Amino acid sequence: MTVYSQPGQPGAIANYRDRYGHYIGGEFVEPAKGEYFENPTPITGKTFTEVGRGTSEDIDRAVDVAWKAFDSWKRTSPAERAVILNKIADRMEQNLEQIAVAETWENGKPVRETLNADIPLAIDHFRYFAGALRAQEGGISQIDENTVAYHFHEPLGVVGQIIPWNFPILMATWKLAPALAAGNCVVLKPAEQTPASILFLIEIIGDLLPAGVLNIVNGFGIEAGAPLASHPRIRKIAFTGETTTGRLIMQYASQNLIPVTLELGGKSPNIFFEDVAREKDSYYDKAQEGFAMFALNQGEVCTCPSRALIQRSIYDGFLADGVERVKRIKQGNPLDTDTMIGAQASNDQLEKILSYMDIGRAEGAKVLTGGERADLGGDLSGGYYVTPTVFEGNNSMRIFQEEIFGPVLAVTSFETYDDAIATANDTLYGLGSGVWSRSADICYRAGRAIEAGRVWTNTYHQYPAHAAFGGYKQSGIGRENHRMMLDHYQQTKNLLVSY
Ligand code: NAD
Repeated sequence: MTVYSQPGQPGAIANYRDRYGHYIGGEFVEPAKGEYFENPTPITGKTFTEVGRGTSEDIDRAVDVAWKAFDSWKRTSPAERAVILNKIADRMEQNLEQIAVAETWENGKPVRETLNADIPLAIDHFRYFAGALRAQEGGISQIDENTVAYHFHEPLGVVGQIIPWNFPILMATWKLAPALAAGNCVVLKPAEQTPASILFLIEIIGDLLPAGVLNIVNGFGIEAGAPLASHPRIRKIAFTGETTTGRLIMQYASQNLIPVTLELGGKSPNIFFEDVAREKDSYYDKAQEGFAMFALNQGEVCTCPSRALIQRSIYDGFLADGVERVKRIKQGNPLDTDTMIGAQASNDQLEKILSYMDIGRAEGAKVLTGGERADLGGDLSGGYYVTPTVFEGNNSMRIFQEEIFGPVLAVTSFETYDDAIATANDTLYGLGSGVWSRSADICYRAGRAIEAGRVWTNTYHQYPAHAAFGGYKQSGIGRENHRMMLDHYQQTKNLLVSY
């Protein structure tokens, strides 16, 4: 067990500046209006840094600088850009522990996850897109005896990216790696709840990119996000966040007719078929682990398996074992490597989760465990903790239909395979899903029948860079990850030549 010191305290391996502006043109700059906002850590609730409050003037400045940088960045070869991306990955790996602790401090998630999952995955994204870029080929079509058509990949130009707070560095990386690989310059707006871990990262890797290629403007959605998404000189907007905000982003983008990628909310079903409980063996144990996965990252995951559907014939026993498993999830100081569930990312999020617990009770759902705020004592008393919660109810309840984005599971039963699929698909969303069965036939059929962009069978919460990720229905438009992302950040030029 290791307990990392809090940033700013003696022995800390990661320390933040007291104040950050934006990062534009390769340097930290003051916000145009000179205003800053406070950034508290969810671990104790105390402010640890201040961050620049961006406005349309800052966005204009960043877009302008990015276009100037694009002139030479677009001329770099794929091999040159791949070298830079690999260097970023190497530098992140050399500083893994510091970056992991910094992100934990700002977001409240357990350091065992930032160390072992979030940051290593982010590093792999840069490596993956460096490789994918080198493997990308254009094409030549023979039109007639004297004429050929060449197909070229060209970058879009300056692109805007807006991200949420649940995986601050990983969400940034999912967008930055393909955009930069494809030869674009970027203006990125982090979430106002977690702006500093990306700036912490920039201090480590910023010098590896030519000035102006990557720019970061902080601030709130309406004040900085909207001017970015509606900026007339942006050639694409990539957004991750709530479905309601996604609708606004599409409206902004329509003003300039630019492409959008939207990665939005979810209410993912996790289905347990009866053969799961045929034996209490290692497979059963794995399925139980899958049941408890809703609490991973404090439930602040767009694909959180927040609805568990259990076949009636095994319902009572499987659920009882599952609830016992949830009770064993170790909650504590996120800087302790033994901690499995940490703090919610913000006080607003904490309040939202607690309000959904009230909604669940009011609509008649039964609390099987949890259901309240957790006070961890000492200086963690001011932090934003809730106990992992399991509700039993039915799929028409709000806690089954609305995204809570917390460690709150809604459980119900089903009779037949067809009932399971109908209930799974009875949602506005279509982002993730889990299917648990020892039968390859059931896994395959259910996997194809569920309306979701990602279905995990006999596993959950794996996010490899080379597997396309994105939503059906109101969970989004477009995909992230996978080399197909390069196409989302490029135009195809067709040059038809007659000899
Ligand atoms: P949010 O929509 O409130 O905010 C996301 C970002 O959008 C923030 O940077 C915010 O400042 C900005 N924003 C807000 N209003 C804006 C506006 N009018 N114009 C431009 N920008 C604006 O979402 P959130 O609460 O930060 O994040 C949680 C949501 O993100 C959840 O719904 C979750 O499911 C979703 N999410 C989806 C994925 C995915 O890949 N599908 C991944 C992670 C999170």
